[in-house]
Amino acid sequence: MMRRLSLRQQITFLVGLLCLVLVSVAAFGASYIAFERTKQEIMADSEETASTLAAILDRGMAERYREIRNIASLRPLQGIWTREPDSIRQVLEQLQATYPDYSWIGFATPDGTVQASTRGVLEGASAAEQPWFQEGLKAPYVGDVHEAKLLDQLLHPSSSDEPSRFVDFSAPVHDENGKLIGVIGAHLNWDWARERLEILLNRRGIVRPEAIWILARDGSVLLGPEGTTKPLPDTLIARMKEYGSGCFELGDGHDKMLTGFAISQGYRDYPGLGWITISRQEDNVAFTAARSAVWTILGLCVVVALLGILFALFIAQGVSKPLQAIIAATDKIGRDPTVSLPPIGTGSREIVRLSAVLRSLVRRAGAAEKRVLEVSTLREQEVLTLTRLAETDALSGLLNRRGFDILGEEAFAQFKQFDRLLAVLIVDIDHFKRVNDTYGHAAGDEVIRAIGEALTRQLRSTDTVCRFGGEEFVVLLRDTSRESVQIIARQIRSAVERLRPVHHGRTLSVTVSVGGALASDADRDIQDVFERADIGLYEAKSTGRNRVVIASVTTPVAVALT
Ligand code: GH3
Ligand code: MG
Ligand code: MG
Repeated sequence: MMRRLSLRQQITFLVGLLCLVLVSVAAFGASYIAFERTKQEIMADSEETASTLAAILDRGMAERYREIRNIASLRPLQGIWTREPDSIRQVLEQLQATYPDYSWIGFATPDGTVQASTRGVLEGASAAEQPWFQEGLKAPYVGDVHEAKLLDQLLHPSSSDEPSRFVDFSAPVHDENGKLIGVIGAHLNWDWARERLEILLNRRGIVRPEAIWILARDGSVLLGPEGTTKPLPDTLIARMKEYGSGCFELGDGHDKMLTGFAISQGYRDYPGLGWITISRQEDNVAFTAARSAVWTILGLCVVVALLGILFALFIAQGVSKPLQAIIAATDKIGRDPTVSLPPIGTGSREIVRLSAVLRSLVRRAGAAEKRVLEVSTLREQEVLTLTRLAETDALSGLLNRRGFDILGEEAFAQFKQFDRLLAVLIVDIDHFKRVNDTYGHAAGDEVIRAIGEALTRQLRSTDTVCRFGGEEFVVLLRDTSRESVQIIARQIRSAVERLRPVHHGRTLSVTVSVGGALASDADRDIQDVFERADIGLYEAKSTGRNRVVIASVTTPVAVALT
């Protein structure tokens, strides 16, 4: 397919393809990096949010834990815990006033009876069955989040809201002698955690409260999606505990959530309750910024690819234009007389070199052509000369038999085709042998030459004379008449008779006998005419020589003429 495309199209196609491939690779690489980096950042951010929340909760809890233990061991109070319930109530209410998230603080005697409490709530009631009391008898205690309907009703009798939830703190109280005299217990309203969470959400600019969950050690919801008891499977909870903190993707397809988590570890001597804080973001929302960055990158890449293709077109144009100019001009050489050389190329070094090489080639081809022309002209002339030599008699300079045969055939063909009258005369020197014998062979040659010239002088330019061999000449007469034939034959005979050839100062005298014949329709070729002319010559010789005999057309009866 590439062979059918022009150089310009090939360059544009290849460079365009290269641009697209490079730009695509760059775009996909950049997009991948953008996505991965964003993902890492969001995951780290989620993990940090979860860890921060866990730390805030741990510190808050540790403070309350420390407060209750401090109160239980305060020396000034040691003497009055059981003796002065009013004073204890005041102390507890002061403590609640400094930290309003305490819903209830109370002191119960070792049998579980609440002796003093904030606002006197539950005073006289038994807390013997409450875990905080039972555990508080033994050691400082922190109880996990729980609902306390009875307390809630006592604290907020008119409220129809969901029952409040509390975190319990308790610590054993001893007198000066170290004897256990009761347990101090406090219920911290769980709304405390919600407030901390909201402060964190505000600080981090997170608008969706459902983005953060707090789960209990067993994975049940302390703060988070309503109507769900355990949003995450136990196996996952177990793995999260293994790692302590981290981030993972949860869910499939479009509902994937980037989930950062942290396990609360406690703070100083507060052992922690193993709460799991979770910060969640939907993939789709989290990657919005990355996605727009990817679209921007892709858009830029498309622009770059288009620019690349335009650039490729520009380059291809630059490369192919001078080539096309060279092709067009070279194509005109030999057709257009005004163009003899390809133009001097402009552009790249190769183009300049190509045009120079082509110009040189055309010049060399021109020179070679000239040489071939000269040589062939020379050869033609040589062939012409050789042909002429082959057809010419060396002694007389007249046509020889070979040259005559060609003309004879031609003339006979014309006679046959156009009925143009044709005659043949055979002229034979009489007793020539005697001339040779008497005056020598050179004298004989001289006689032959002189008679040849005399014959030529007697003939028209349309007639042809040749030396047939020996001392015999043949004359071909065209476009003539019977009378003219006879006249010319007689003129020849008498001209030779009058001729006085000179050799070495000696004047010779010779005569010729002439036999003639006119072509007739019955003749098959020129040889038939010759035969009759020969008969005429024989007749002339046999009847005395120095005479003319024109053979009859129909019969070989000769008519002797003198
Ligand atoms: P006729 O009248 O019967 O023709 O007698 P003739 O002697 O002319 O005829 P013949 O055929 O007996 O002799 C021809 C002679 O011509 C013989 C030959 O030596 C001579 N001859 C042929 N060619 C040449 C030539 O080129 N130069 C010379 N000098 N003589 C030639
Ligand atoms: Mg002869
Ligand atoms: Mg003779």
